[in-house]
Amino acid sequence: MEKIYELAIVGAGPAGIATAVESYLQGMRDIVLLEKDTNHNSTIRKYYKENKRVDLEWKGQKVELNGRIHFIDGTKETTLDFFDEILQEHLVELQTQVEVQSIEKKEKYFEVHMAGKSILAKYVVVTIGRMGKPNKPSYKIPPSIRKKINYTTDKCSQDEKILVVGGGDSAVEYAVDLSEKNDVAICYRRESFRRANPTNQQNIADAIAQQDVRPILGININGLEDDNGRVKVLFSEVEAQSFDRVIYAIGGTTPSTFLASSGIEERDGKPVHNENYETNIKGLFVAGDITQESGGSIALGLNHGYDIACYIKGNDED
Ligand SMILES: Cc1cc2nc3c(=O)[nH]c(=O)nc-3n(C[C@H](O)[C@H](O)[C@H](O)COP(=O)(O)OP(=O)(O)OC[C@H]3O[C@@H](n4cnc5c(N)ncnc54)[C@H](O)[C@@H]3O)c2cc1C
Repeated sequence: MEKIYELAIVGAGPAGIATAVESYLQGMRDIVLLEKDTNHNSTIRKYYKENKRVDLEWKGQKVELNGRIHFIDGTKETTLDFFDEILQEHLVELQTQVEVQSIEKKEKYFEVHMAGKSILAKYVVVTIGRMGKPNKPSYKIPPSIRKKINYTTDKCSQDEKILVVGGGDSAVEYAVDLSEKNDVAICYRRESFRRANPTNQQNIADAIAQQDVRPILGININGLEDDNGRVKVLFSEVEAQSFDRVIYAIGGTTPSTFLASSGIEERDGKPVHNENYETNIKGLFVAGDITQESGGSIALGLNHGYDIACYIKGNDED
């Protein structure tokens, strides 16, 4: 007979791992984590730079951890090790390189569809985040300079003239870090970095004061042009400037196609859910960044995982 999982979780980021581990700790067995990348936590692996400081209070959000996962401030590397350890300590099956395409509610169970295979599960939690598709600018990017337009710092080397676009924690961290080896400017449509957490606000203020980072604040970008292979940035109120590279750190998008293909209602850029994170489909939940219009935090995802685990435990009819 085909195996029926008690719980299938789509996406092995912090929210997915927390849902799995907290559910295990509540006594649930037969839990599977389905991850499209080659390992868990692809957002952290891809978007965090080496040795990045990882703050529990991201975006200045104060979050008390409710569950049994004791996450603390650290670095990219200690955070990944931490998630490795908690996955190993709890018997959760992690399947990698399986991209879930849709979830279908059958009479008693859900069918979770991936390329070439499907699995059955009693409960499903979708924790696929928002960074599968990072936000892109609304203006056209000339194809000839597309390689110079990035959404992570992976391609950066040194002695480049780089423009970072954005004003949140990620943009600030990218700008400060890159300024050690590059000539960096940061462009943000607002006048200050109030969305960033206090540490990052201090770091960017110091970098600007020491002229390591050049601020272009309160200014919008109208478009980009090819300037002999460099990126010419057309600003709204100041003269155009050319850069070797432009990095957009302006968040991610709602995975609307995925939600629609699974029948999950979306409103105002977020999946609709009740106070228990259950969607319009009974037994199908959402957690983590996907529930937040402008992204959440690791701590928030951990708390969602705990809340869902408690809810399922308290309401399971079998
Ligand atoms: C540059 C940067 C720096 C940050 N720094 C911090 C920080 O210091 N502290 C902090 O608390 N937060 C930080 N954040 C935010 C934090 O990373 C997110 O809030 C957190 O990762 C969200 O967790 P999640 O589990 O909801 O989603 P994600 O971490 O995005 O995980 C989603 C997972 O789902 C997988 N997936 C996607 N689609 C599918 C599919 N169809 N099938 C199967 N798997 C799929 C993805 O590959 C991924 O592994 C930062 C974010 C960025 C971009």
